[in-house]
Amino acid sequence: ATPVAIMVGTGKGAENGILIKSGEALEVAHNIQSVVLDKTGTITQGKPVVTDIYPVHTSPQKLLEIAGALEMKSEHPLAEAILAKVKEENTALPETENFLAVTGKGVQAVIEGQTYYAGNSKLMEEHHVDCREIQPLMEKLAEDGKTPLIFADEKQVLGIIGAADVVKPTSAQAVKELKKLGIRVIMLTGDNARTAKAIQKQLEIDNVIAEVLPQDKEREVANIQKSGQVVAMVGDGINDAPALARADVGIAIGAGTDVAIESADIVLMKNDLLDVVTAIRLSKAVIRNIK
Ligand code: ADP
Ligand code: MG
Repeated sequence: ATPVAIMVGTGKGAENGILIKSGEALEVAHNIQSVVLDKTGTITQGKPVVTDIYPVHTSPQKLLEIAGALEMKSEHPLAEAILAKVKEENTALPETENFLAVTGKGVQAVIEGQTYYAGNSKLMEEHHVDCREIQPLMEKLAEDGKTPLIFADEKQVLGIIGAADVVKPTSAQAVKELKKLGIRVIMLTGDNARTAKAIQKQLEIDNVIAEVLPQDKEREVANIQKSGQVVAMVGDGINDAPALARADVGIAIGAGTDVAIESADIVLMKNDLLDVVTAIRLSKAVIRNIK
């Protein structure tokens, strides 16, 4: 593309709150064949709320106490959901020691000499917590698109708390428009496969890659590139930064973290997935005018 065409395109983007960092990004964007979307904070609002509390072998009160104490030191959005519930119920929390966050799996801590865990099935498997009893409940929550958080002590499961994260109002429309442009839409998430599938179905997303550890998101993008596709990655979190850098075009949601914004080629100021479509259309228009 000529420098003038690039300048006009970049200017048009800026008018729409789409910051295109380089002429190269604008050019490559017209060729995008696959768009990989992070789930939490990108497709969804990223502010989950507690929807269900199911105690097992304990009272609802005790479950919320343990949950609140465990999540106190976590910075995960799911922890914020639990703590909002704790506040709402005026639950007093016990002291914790030896807090540990296990990336992509959950957290653990010691309360009154006893170790407690909060997280997904992977974390429970690692600590040999038998989850057969709660399997039907977990499946029910996941089928509703909710994330089931499991709580356990060293001996047994203590309950499940369900959290739901609202899909952004324009996400469905954005997926539809991308598909109309002939682009394959893929969702990438650390969340469990069933929950991810429920959201995939709701939005008619082509493919889903679930239960991906934060450090593996980049590899998933590279795998799609190896199959010969020109890939755009859209994300908001620190976790997404390496994948954004790896993609042919990295697109950060402006409301996201600084690291994500730094790693991206394009930054969307409005926190709206429809701007991914606008950016690709803009790129196509610029290239068309040149040819
Ligand atoms: P994502 O941001 O893509 O949803 P993460 O890698 O941050 O994924 O987390 C993956 C999963 O690990 C979560 O869906 C949840 O089941 C579990 N998890 C992570 N952090 C916590 C936490 N603080 N408390 C409970 N579960 C957690
Ligand atoms: Mg995210």
